[in-house]
Amino acid sequence: MFGFALARRAQNAVMGFRLFGFMLFQAVGAVAGWRVHAMWGAVAGVILAGLAWLALDAWNAARVLRWMRQGGEGAVPAARSLWGEFAERSRRLLRQRAGETRAAEAQLDEFLAAIQASPNGVVLLDGQGRIEWCNQITAQHFGIEAPRDLQQQIGNLVRDPDFAAYCAGGDFSREVVIAGRASSPALPVRISVQLHPYGAGRRLLLSRDVTALARADAMRRDFVANVSHEIRTPLTVLAGFVETLRTLPLSDTERARYLDLMRQQAARMQTLVSDLLTLSRLEGGPLPGLSESTALEGLLARCLQDARALSALVARRETPGHDLRYAPPPGSGAAVQIAGSPDELQSAVANLLSNAVRYTPVGGVIELAWQLLPDGRLALSVQDSGPGIAAEHIPRLTERFYRVDRSRSRETGGTGLGLAIVKHVAERHGAELAIDSTPGCGARFTLLFPASRVSVAGAEPPQSAAQVAAAAPPAEAARQS
Ligand code: ADP
Repeated sequence: MFGFALARRAQNAVMGFRLFGFMLFQAVGAVAGWRVHAMWGAVAGVILAGLAWLALDAWNAARVLRWMRQGGEGAVPAARSLWGEFAERSRRLLRQRAGETRAAEAQLDEFLAAIQASPNGVVLLDGQGRIEWCNQITAQHFGIEAPRDLQQQIGNLVRDPDFAAYCAGGDFSREVVIAGRASSPALPVRISVQLHPYGAGRRLLLSRDVTALARADAMRRDFVANVSHEIRTPLTVLAGFVETLRTLPLSDTERARYLDLMRQQAARMQTLVSDLLTLSRLEGGPLPGLSESTALEGLLARCLQDARALSALVARRETPGHDLRYAPPPGSGAAVQIAGSPDELQSAVANLLSNAVRYTPVGGVIELAWQLLPDGRLALSVQDSGPGIAAEHIPRLTERFYRVDRSRSRETGGTGLGLAIVKHVAERHGAELAIDSTPGCGARFTLLFPASRVSVAGAEPPQSAAQVAAAAPPAEAARQS
């Protein structure tokens, strides 16, 4: 309000000054004319003074115009005249407008940078479906790149039939999932696309990569199908035996045999449920920290005992059993500790040993070994002399329910979850699981623990695995039990 009043006053002052200047010229002209030639002299003086004022005004206007043509740099000429005032005000107005334009451009740049940083694809389409603008991620999703593809029809660049049908359908309330640009049968890429109408017939196309979601969904469906299948088989067998026991007159021996078979099926279901629970605990539980640690020798001793018991069970009808060996590094008196969850670590090693016992024919050699690597990591391996695994199966062995030989796995009481558990335990402890095998020459599974989880203390563990091995020679122990 105050500013406005000031401007008004300044404007009035300029106009007053202009009027005053004109009047002064007239008065001076009139007086000078009068002195020269009385009345007619005064009239001629007034006219000449008016012309002089006009000439001065035109000269001022010409100076200002020249100054404006030259870019309006430096001081405004004839600043006190109306033209100078006009020029100064125009300059201020232009500066203000330029500042506002710069601020709007900076805001637009920031806005576009934010859209560029988005993990989702954004394409602006005009009323005819031509691309007006797109961000960088659309290159990954559809192969659309700016400025190359600007003004191109989107339908010519995204040729998926589902997308064409979606555009033609006109119902944009839902999204459509199409194959991404880099999609291949081996590695499918799924892109979800949705059009959002806006403005005068324009459309905004948003795309996002839903490959991981689609894969997780497929995995969940497969998992449910696999679990149902695994449980249905023993359940069907159990139901059959129950029916047999209920309806047929059986001798005591037959009855005992059937009951034993039923017990085996129930045990199989129990193992499956227990492995499923272990997996779900591993997937959802908090990561094992570094505060709790377990003595390696004691852990291996317990695992070896279990493996001997399993070997004895497997070898009950066939002799000899497995030659289970323990090979600590020479001169390793120090107690090595691994930081992490003792239960999880034991479950991982026990699963590797159990696989070695179950897949290696009786009489074969199984060796449990470990060594500290120069960089402080701990390599813990289970090697067997069994049938080995063909190279094409190795990358998939840790998938849930993946088996090389389904019937062999079932025969030996496998659930198809053992190596999935080992992989999860390894990941949770920052360890790697390496699988080496040559078909016909056995397999070696190695867990590589990071140096941050391994420590070497001076104290001896309570009962070492070496002592266990010494107490009962491997093959002997298997045969005796
Ligand atoms: P399973 O309960 O069937 O043993 P795992 O997840 O432990 O399931 O193992 C997956 C598959 O890997 C097994 O079905 C088997 O075909 C193969 N496998 C695992 N360990 C060995 C091994 N030591 N020797 C040969 N094959 C193995």
